[in-house]
Amino acid sequence: MGKESGMNITVIGCWGAYPEKNEATSGYLVEYNGSKILLDCGSGVLSRLQNHCSLEELDAVVITHTHADHIADVYSLEFAILILMQIGKRKKPLDVYVYGSEPDDLPFCFPQYVHVHSINISEPLIIGTVKLEFSENLHDVPSCAVRLTSEDGKTLVYSGDTGYCQSLIELARHADVLLIESSFYEWQKGLMDGHLTAGEAGAIAALANVKQLLLTHFPHYGELTQLVEEATQHYGGPIHLASGDMKLSI
Ligand SMILES: [Zn+2]
Ligand SMILES: [Zn+2]
Repeated sequence: MGKESGMNITVIGCWGAYPEKNEATSGYLVEYNGSKILLDCGSGVLSRLQNHCSLEELDAVVITHTHADHIADVYSLEFAILILMQIGKRKKPLDVYVYGSEPDDLPFCFPQYVHVHSINISEPLIIGTVKLEFSENLHDVPSCAVRLTSEDGKTLVYSGDTGYCQSLIELARHADVLLIESSFYEWQKGLMDGHLTAGEAGAIAALANVKQLLLTHFPHYGELTQLVEEATQHYGGPIHLASGDMKLSI
């Protein structure tokens, strides 16, 4: 397999809680040097993922926590892998890494086709030539953030779901891209725990000194461009709003 230049990130879905019509909740495809890694697999992700990656080629799925908007479609993906392997189109089982639950406690059915592993915060993973490191979030169920580093030193940090926490600032330090949840507007600050306002996302980006910010995990109300304005109050670098099918290369 030829070496591709850079790490490519594709937004499969960017909605919190439930997908907007014809869209998806959390799902981000990361491709580097022939490896294809899906970060989270919420509702709507399995269908839309196939616009960008055949299910024969997907190497691994990393689930940051077990809320439905991050894991729901992985159970349908298991059936896709089962069928593709039975008809000989896919050669190897799929690796699924989950934080916050033991594999036996999750409703997977076919361990010969989908290999489910627990994520241990203190144990980095290697998938292909990508290194993954983790930190613990503030959320109402166990939830992790993940830092992906390519062989050539490119870094993507994905927050998963979290309230404001120092550990995310540490994990995100000098990242090329911080993909971070911004579930709330500033007027909602302090009303709900376990998620970030866009202003808090901007503050984390500034303190971590990241190179660019990609806001995601959106609320279903208000003007999303206001999230950018609120993040800009804290962070002076480039800020993008995630959208379905958006691609970014680093
Ligand atoms: Zn969520
Ligand atoms: Zn959540």
